[in-house]
Amino acid sequence: MAKGIIVKALSGFYYVLEDGNELANGELVQCRARGIFKKKGLSPLVGDRVEFERTENGEGTVTEVSPRSSELIRPPIANMRIALLAFSVVEPDLNQQLLDKFLVHIEHAGLTPVICFTKLDLLESAADAQLSEAVSSAASLYRSIGYEMFETSSKFKQGLEPIAARLAGELTVIAGQSGVGKSSLLNALIPGIDLETNAISMKLGRGKHTTRHVELLPLGGGGWVADTPGFSQLDFAEIEAEQLGGCFPEFVPLSEQCKFRGCLHLHEPSCEVRAAAERGGVAASRYEHYLQFLQIIRDRPRRY
Ligand code: GDP
Ligand code: ZN
Repeated sequence: MAKGIIVKALSGFYYVLEDGNELANGELVQCRARGIFKKKGLSPLVGDRVEFERTENGEGTVTEVSPRSSELIRPPIANMRIALLAFSVVEPDLNQQLLDKFLVHIEHAGLTPVICFTKLDLLESAADAQLSEAVSSAASLYRSIGYEMFETSSKFKQGLEPIAARLAGELTVIAGQSGVGKSSLLNALIPGIDLETNAISMKLGRGKHTTRHVELLPLGGGGWVADTPGFSQLDFAEIEAEQLGGCFPEFVPLSEQCKFRGCLHLHEPSCEVRAAAERGGVAASRYEHYLQFLQIIRDRPRRY
């Protein structure tokens, strides 16, 4: 019985790296999953710690999946601890509503969000005072909430060491809109790796994400980063109205002082969250986005 981690899943095969091997020299064992998983409705995921048996042809069978510390459905991946949220400051411009949407989903999934602003060099070359001001006030807002913030330029290899040190030895999934520079960041962080970036695919005249799948890439110190085709559906489908406030960490201590238990921080009397938003203790943008997301959840057809 061997143990390992699933680093890739493709067309019914799971590619397992045995413990003690390194991806650079150890081969991946191509495995099928035992039929029993299907019966139980459990399918192995990239990131799963597994036991497997080797078969005669050099392939293997996954026989056991260890309990997961976290699980995402879209993208399908297990055991990630950090979600690295990549957001460009220019091209595309920083989208704080989308950032808050990602933060809510990541908080709900129980991963630690780490925010990385990318393409800082474009901010310098734009020399747009208003834009610079917007970016630096966004950075201080998220820092003040307690989120870890990094600022990078992959093009000029700036700001990379602190983020590499933070991710070393960790299990991280990278998330962010297409074109924000995720592949460029991973290329800059991982020596010897050469992911296709949007610049190249534009030249070749084809989309970059056509053949991509979820895959773990080795980081320093035994860590892994999951490159994924994207977080396709940030639709709050798994989140109940009563849970939303808990996904805004700065609301949590305030909501304990709201008059009503289960306060949705809308129009209830003596709501500390709304009061703080009015006073400026909670950022207007955050409260606004909370209200927008709550509306989406409440408009959702009920499931019985
Ligand atoms: P992805 O879709 O998130 O993986 O983004 P890519 O890594 O493919 O990058 C999208 C585009 O942004 C490409 O043209 C990159 O060359 C460009 N880009 C990525 N990082 C930077 C950066 O730090 N500075 C500048 N100026 N351009 C960047
Ligand atoms: Zn309230």
